[in-house]
Amino acid sequence: MRLANLGGRAALITGDRALDVFDAGGFGPDPMDVLENWAAFTEWVRTSPPGSSLVDPARLGPPVPRPRQVFAVALNYPPHAAEAGFGPPADPLVFTKFPTCIAGPQETVSLPGDRVDWEVELVAVIGKGGHRITEECALEHVAGFMIGQDLSERRIQSLGKPPQFSLAKSFPGFGPTGPHLVTELAPDAAITCLLNDEVVQKASLGDMIFGVPDLVARLSAVCPLLPGDLIFTGTPAGVGNRRTPPRYLTPDDVLTSRIDGLGELRTRFRAGVLTPS
Ligand code: ZN
Repeated sequence: MRLANLGGRAALITGDRALDVFDAGGFGPDPMDVLENWAAFTEWVRTSPPGSSLVDPARLGPPVPRPRQVFAVALNYPPHAAEAGFGPPADPLVFTKFPTCIAGPQETVSLPGDRVDWEVELVAVIGKGGHRITEECALEHVAGFMIGQDLSERRIQSLGKPPQFSLAKSFPGFGPTGPHLVTELAPDAAITCLLNDEVVQKASLGDMIFGVPDLVARLSAVCPLLPGDLIFTGTPAGVGNRRTPPRYLTPDDVLTSRIDGLGELRTRFRAGVLTPS
């Protein structure tokens, strides 16, 4: 099942067709309301009619437009941990992307500096909330999956010692997500990031150190998880600041983020107001 945000309204997607979830079933129209009623909604979907209107990709917004909590995990693929100068961590390194950074799958992002970097990631979306969820029950609490970009301003990230993640990863537009919330996902699906036409990141979701059920259990051991919460699960090797020479995004670039079975994000950039240090 594929759920999208079309012009701010929840829509079921089948091929190139959309069904307005509120008009057809009374859920929403706000995608956040659909997530609040996830169990009843998925029950209704079993017998919902097919979509009829053609999807206009330009109207796709973030499938979860206003998450209350956005968790993110650093160093969750061994080759990326190695390029950052670390071994595989024994426990997840968790930070937040502040929720105002969340954007859609066709975003044009203003660059607030000359060291903005890419990180393609799998994003898990919480459906049914809970506290102290066990790893065995974790997937019952996951509504589905999206592609995400954890865009990062590396100069702000390294202003302090030790470096800080959350602020540098939370400028407007720094959390592109989508294109849809998808309930099915192959555990070893390929995850790829292209800068213009060049593949800069490519891995398998099966390479993750801490899988989604493990992350749900560990995060919810501390924070109660709420419907619509997002978990950015970490990026594979191939980010720009670990290259020789380092490489960063410019206003001419197009960033394409793909996960097999989920679709792709296309993120464009424009020159923005530089953030003073
Ligand atoms: Zn990341």
